[in-house]
Amino acid sequence: MIQIRQPATNLRRSALALATLGLIGSFNPHLGAQTTPTFNHNVIVLDPAHGGADTGARISDRLPEKDVTLAFAQRLRPLLAAAGFTVISTRDADLTETAPNLTTEQRAGIANHARALACILIHATPSGYGVHLYTSSLPADESAEPATTLPWDSAQSTYLTLSLRLANELGVTLLHADIPPTLSHASTRPIDNLTCPAVALELAPLEVPDAKPTPLSDNNYQQRTAQAITEALISWRSHEAPPSPTATPATKPATPKPTSPTAKPPAPKPAPAPAPAAPGAPR
Ligand SMILES: [Zn+2]
Repeated sequence: MIQIRQPATNLRRSALALATLGLIGSFNPHLGAQTTPTFNHNVIVLDPAHGGADTGARISDRLPEKDVTLAFAQRLRPLLAAAGFTVISTRDADLTETAPNLTTEQRAGIANHARALACILIHATPSGYGVHLYTSSLPADESAEPATTLPWDSAQSTYLTLSLRLANELGVTLLHADIPPTLSHASTRPIDNLTCPAVALELAPLEVPDAKPTPLSDNNYQQRTAQAITEALISWRSHEAPPSPTATPATKPATPKPTSPTAKPPAPKPAPAPAPAAPGAPR
């Protein structure tokens, strides 16, 4: 579950929905090109949030969020693989104390090392409808060059324009599949640390006109959603077409770009300690 501080942009049933989504994606293409880094074209990172003692939200009496996020990632994986993607998941099981889950910082490290075409953080909530799409609430920083190292706590700033485009791509495709998307911003961990186009995707029940809402545990609903996301990522790969990496990828940003106006003092934190949950952090 993701807690936000500002109202989401609810696009369902809006005649202007597609136009609105188009506006969200209409960033200056020149600026976007300047900040387009190198990605592994066929790599998608999935981060099924929560796990182990961190159960996340309670979706129903017997269903914790951690189980929904893992099940959805496992549903998405074969669809992406069939489309030619290599899927890197930050967890493939509900781990225990003897094999603990990775910290959010470790998850970010895995994602950043992959130089993925897209990083999808998966959450779930019993409230709201459709699929809630979140991008980082950091300000976009068009000035930084992706080849340089970036401050860990705000690394996503440089990629935010791409992340917004990715959210737009996902939103349009979900809308076409009659799954209402909602767009908003939340710095749910570890999205601010990611050096890839990154969207946190929160699954919610499906509203059905004049009928009971479809629970998000519904197999058919989950499958439709997974298929729509796969279609969106195929489209993202086809038109985003960033170059493949030619150099050894950086494993983790450590120091700011000296000339960046938003650069912070050097923060050599190879494994930053978890900070207290921010208001926009997931539960
Ligand atoms: Zn969550």
